Amino acid sequence: MYDGDIASVLITEQQINDKVTELAKQVDEDYQDAGGDLLLVGVLKGAVMFMTDFARALPQPAQLEFMAVSSYGSSTSSSGVVRILKDLDRDIANRHVLIVEDIIDSGLTLSWLLKNLSSRNPASLEVCTLLRKPDAVQVDVPVKYVGFDIPNEFVVGYGLDYAERYRDLPYIGTLDPKVYTSGV
Ligand code: 5GP
Ligand code: MG
Ligand code: MG
Repeated sequence: MYDGDIASVLITEQQINDKVTELAKQVDEDYQDAGGDLLLVGVLKGAVMFMTDFARALPQPAQLEFMAVSSYGSSTSSSGVVRILKDLDRDIANRHVLIVEDIIDSGLTLSWLLKNLSSRNPASLEVCTLLRKPDAVQVDVPVKYVGFDIPNEFVVGYGLDYAERYRDLPYIGTLDPKVYTSGV
């Protein structure tokens, strides 16, 4: 699939599976007192693969909600100015909310999202991200669960796209520079 477009595999399918299981166990332990009231909020579209695998690996029941946001900026970096494309279908007041994210880069999108959701008065609000880049550490965004800290490279696969492609790859990899320059 996508022959020649992927320069290197950063995280294999097996490594993702193991990490998803590990994160789900950790979350399950931490939410024992939530009384089965956990609400996962996945951020479309990047977090879809992680969200669905995570929900299935989670030993306790959880409800699934999705939000779509778009941050103004180029296709490879965000500006922090966020627009809601699809809001939650339900009220999250007094719910235990766990935001499920694909990747935190500058942290600007997440920082905006946390402010927005916390104003809706959830019982608790935490973040679980599969990937985190080095710049995210500079932003004061509390992220309780992190799958992998990765280098500052543009990655695709397992939900993450470049120009809407590569989301369907089962692993996470870096793109061959020729993909950026061929004007896809
Ligand atoms: P932030 O606001 O943290 O800078 O950006 C987060 C969003 O930017 C992610 O949800 C994702 O859509 C996009 N993004 C950041 N880094 C990458 C990357 O390496 N690959 C891809 N495909 N998207 C990224
Ligand atoms: Mg995202
Ligand atoms: Mg994208």
